[in-house]
This record gives sequence, structure tokens and C-alpha cells, in this order.
Amino acid sequence: MDTQMLIGGAFETGTEAEETILNPRNGEAILALPEASLDQVERAVAAAEKAFATWSRTTPAERAGYLLKIADRIEAEADGFATLEALNCGKPINAARNDEIPAIVDCYRFFAGAVRCVPASAAGEYLAGHTSMIRRDPIGIVASIAPWNYPLMMMAWKLAPAIGGGNTVIFKPSEQTPLTALKLAKILAEELPEGVVNVILGRGESVGNALINHPKVNMISITGDVATGKKIMQAASRTVKRTHLELGGKAPVIVHDDADLEAVVAGLKAFGYYNAGQDCTAACRIYAGAGIYDRLVADLSSAVSSIVFANEDDTVNEMPPLISLRQRDRVASFVERALEQSHMEATAGGKTHGGNGFYYQPTVIAGALQSDEIVRREVFGPVVSVTRFTDEEEAVTWANDSDYGLASSVWTKDVSRAMKTAASLRYGCTWVNTHFMLVNEMPHGGMKQSGYGKDMSHYALEDYTAIRHVMIAHG
Ligand code: NAD
Repeated sequence: MDTQMLIGGAFETGTEAEETILNPRNGEAILALPEASLDQVERAVAAAEKAFATWSRTTPAERAGYLLKIADRIEAEADGFATLEALNCGKPINAARNDEIPAIVDCYRFFAGAVRCVPASAAGEYLAGHTSMIRRDPIGIVASIAPWNYPLMMMAWKLAPAIGGGNTVIFKPSEQTPLTALKLAKILAEELPEGVVNVILGRGESVGNALINHPKVNMISITGDVATGKKIMQAASRTVKRTHLELGGKAPVIVHDDADLEAVVAGLKAFGYYNAGQDCTAACRIYAGAGIYDRLVADLSSAVSSIVFANEDDTVNEMPPLISLRQRDRVASFVERALEQSHMEATAGGKTHGGNGFYYQPTVIAGALQSDEIVRREVFGPVVSVTRFTDEEEAVTWANDSDYGLASSVWTKDVSRAMKTAASLRYGCTWVNTHFMLVNEMPHGGMKQSGYGKDMSHYALEDYTAIRHVMIAHG
């Protein structure tokens, strides 16, 4: 497999780190992880700096043209991208091909349109005899660092608004999932001027660390863990870089007694376990009213028990394994610790699935209390907890009682209750009678320790551009 990195329009081989990328479905080695040297990081930054001089002066229409070409190329090679994503992440091929690739293609197309509509205008005469103009200009060199759960999608969310906004980028995929980024690098080398996007590989503590501490990097965009986000904020403070942080989540789901139980169960089965729950918006922390709690636990447990795993040859295609053995063991230890406490029980799942793949059974933990670890910490696996509440105020208080603030949902047939609950939740997104739905017009991003800055939507372009004021004296 070709693992060359893209630096300044040319392909280069990295050194081999002491880690191997494994196929999550069977634990077999795919390849040894290549890693950029410090010299390669340095040259990637230099290439981005050189390219910025001309790229930042292109018109929005020109940049839109490039984004549309990238979209077309991904669409044309959709099967190849989906196959690689399935191999590297263990995703069902249907999910990679039919859910993710169309959304990725649409992301580049969305920003091709949005970049031509960025609001920036002549603002008038605020001081007598002077005209003020507001410009939105690129920020400069952006280091974009991605996680492993949706590798090509996270790359789209970061690259499209960054280069659409006139910035140049050094992109580092997760060390666990570089395969689709390497494939896209080939397309980027053909379609973009050299140095506009550089793709380098390596671990966070080495290559990521070199990038976030580089004095010439003007902005760091990261999707990852809260602890990683905190390190990035510290590093950024040394040269006052702009940061864009999409960190973890622990989405509360408030189910009122009057909710449509069938819809709730179907929604939770889909949105609590999609991608094996390795999703920062996963519907994982359920608060159910006392009148619906027992039926919800029974129906959800029975629905979840029917979920089938994606198998090696893609003949069965529903829930993937976890990304790594480490992640599976982490999920298993959360569940073990929960079940050591007698007030909680696994009404579905609760165990690893046999075989060499990194599978974990879709799990429902009933009887969880607000103080329990399983309710408070991000598990990032196919595990949903259910907690009983007695009144609306308690549900909202518990839902908000979290360091995270990314996504939430409320389920009820009563419109005013839905609006009241939604208004009280301190989350970047609240869905009513659904969960998880995202299209490129919608801003995605957190509050509290889930970070700040928006991916997708025209708000992302605001994050990746700087407001500037130019004043002309009339003389
Ligand atoms: P992670 O923080 O371990 O790694 C994310 C990226 O950061 C990787 O590319 C890694 O190499 C890099 N990194 C790690 N340490 C670094 C350092 N010191 N300096 C620079 N770069 C460093 O996260 P992960 O395990 O890959 O992903 C899972 C996490 O991501 C979960 O917490 C999940 O909630 C979060 N996530 C959030 C969103 C969102 O939109 N909010 C989306 C997906 C995943």
C-alpha cells in the first residue's frame, strides 16, 4: 500500500513509527504506521507559507472551482474511498459508501457555494470624512488535526472551509486511520496548486505536537479528545494562535412520558449505536420519565439485541467493531465497573463479542443514577445508559449537569414542552423528536468542554476567516 505524504505538491516517504495499523474486523495488520520527520513537518509548514502568498489572493469564485473539482473526484472514486474507509475503520461498506461519501462530496460543494456569499461589506461613514470597510480575510496557515471515527468526513469538514476561506493547510489524520487521507492526497496533488494542502502522517505526541507548537502556524483546528484540546490551547497560547476545538460529547436524551415510544426506540437504536457509538453526538445518556421508563427499557433492550455486526466479507452489514483493541477494552471496563454496582443492570449486551475482531455487544445499562461514571464520562462505544426522572426540571438539571455541551435531544408530543426544554439545554445542538441528523447547512459544534467553533454551515467560514477593518480618509 502506498503511504507517501504530500508536502509542497510532491510525495515523500516517512519513517516508520513503532506502531501497526490493524484491521478492526479481524485484528490483522494492514501496514506499519509511517510518520513525518521534524524536517518534513518544517517543510510542510514552509510549503503552506509559500502557497499562502498566491492562494490567499485567489477570488472566491476561483476557490469554489477547486472545491467543486475535489467533490467531483471523490464522487467518481466513491467506491475506492468507501472500501478503504471500511478496511481501516471496520465500518460497514454501506455506511461508508451510502451515508458518508455523499455527505463528504456535498460538504465540498456546500462550501464552494458558501465561500462566494461570505458577508463582508462597505460599512459606511462612522467618522465624519471617513469610509469604513469590513473585509473578511484568510487567517494564514492552518494545522488541521483529525480523529479516527469518520476520517474522510473530518478531513472534508476541516479542509473545505479552510481552503475555501483562502487559508493553506497542513492536515494530519489520526495515526490510526490515515488510508483515505492518503488517497485524497493524490487527488489534491492533481487538482490544487502545490502547497495549498499538505498531508503529513504521525502520532499526536510527535508530529501533532510539532505542528501545534510551530511559530508559523496561525490556527489549529482539532477534532479530538477534551484532554487533547486542553494541550492545544496551552500550546496555542505561546504564539496566540486561533483555535477551533471540536471535542468530546455525552449527549443527553430527554424522553418525556408523552413521547412516541416506537419512534424513540427506533431513534435510539439508530443513533445510540451508529458507528458502534463512536460518535461525539451519540444518543448515549437517556433520561426517561417515570411513566415511560419501564416500557422504554424493555423495548429498547429488545430492539438493540437484534442489531447484527458487520462481518468480514460484508454479507452482514449493520454495526462495526470498535476501532482498536484498546478502545474495546476501555468500553468493556466502563461496563464492568457499572455492573459491579447492584443498582445497575445490563438489559442488553454487556460483553465483548468473540473472535479476533474488536467487537462489543450493543448494550443498555438500566437503573443508572446521575452520579454514576457511566452517566458522566464519555464511553465512545455502543453503550447507552437509562436514568429515571420524576419531573421536567430534574431532567433538564441532570442533562445540563455535564462538562460536555455538544449535542442533546428531547422527545415529546407537546410542542411547548419541547420548546421549553430545548431552550433550557446548554448544548451546541438540540434535536426535537430526532437525534443525530446533520446536513452541511447546519452548524455543528459545542459549548462548555466540548469546545468552540463550528464545523459545517456558513459559520465555519467565519471561524476560518478574520474580520478586518479598512478606513479611508476622504481628504
Ligand atoms: P485524540 O484526541 O486522541 O486524537 C485526535 C487527534 O489529535 C489525532 O490526530 C491525534 O494524533 C492528535 N493528537 C493527540 N494528541 C496530540 C497532541 N498532544 N498534540 C497534537 N495533536 C495531538 O482523539 P481520538 O481518540 O482520535 O478521537 C476520539 C475523540 O474525538 C473523542 O473524545 C470524541 O468525542 C472526539 N470527537 C469529537 C467530535 C466533534 O465533532 N466534537 C467528532 C469526532 C470525535
